[in-house]
Amino acid sequence: MGETIFSKIIRKEIPAKIVYENEDVLAFRDINPQAPVHILVIPKKLEIENTTQIKGSEHAELLGKLFDAVNEIARAEGISEKGFRVVINSGPESGQDVLHLHLHILGGRKMHWPPG
Ligand code: AMP
Repeated sequence: MGETIFSKIIRKEIPAKIVYENEDVLAFRDINPQAPVHILVIPKKLEIENTTQIKGSEHAELLGKLFDAVNEIARAEGISEKGFRVVINSGPESGQDVLHLHLHILGGRKMHWPPG
């Protein structure tokens, strides 16, 4: 995986509204929010572009940490009870722009289905 805008955010070279951080996971508000709550959750050290590169045998623990972060953030943002959406765009047809695995947390409004 190459350098992305998220690499710079991890290194704090460009500003971001960080809402959660530990050794393995960083979460910050999306610069172009699509819902009242729109937060991106990313691995800090794992260099994979998207879900196609996930291996259960290697990445299970990290995936658990990413979802621990999702749930803690959802509680802190007050959207855990009402519900929220977690989206991972993966590959060109999904609309993925940034080639660094990231989970979108979207909440604070009623979500629609099917998604666009
Ligand atoms: P995706 O289309 O799934 O690759 O999502 C990339 C997301 O990153 C988009 O929702 C962008 O709005 C968001 N984004 C891009 N640059 C930044 C930035 N500097 N800070 C916060 N979010 C960003």
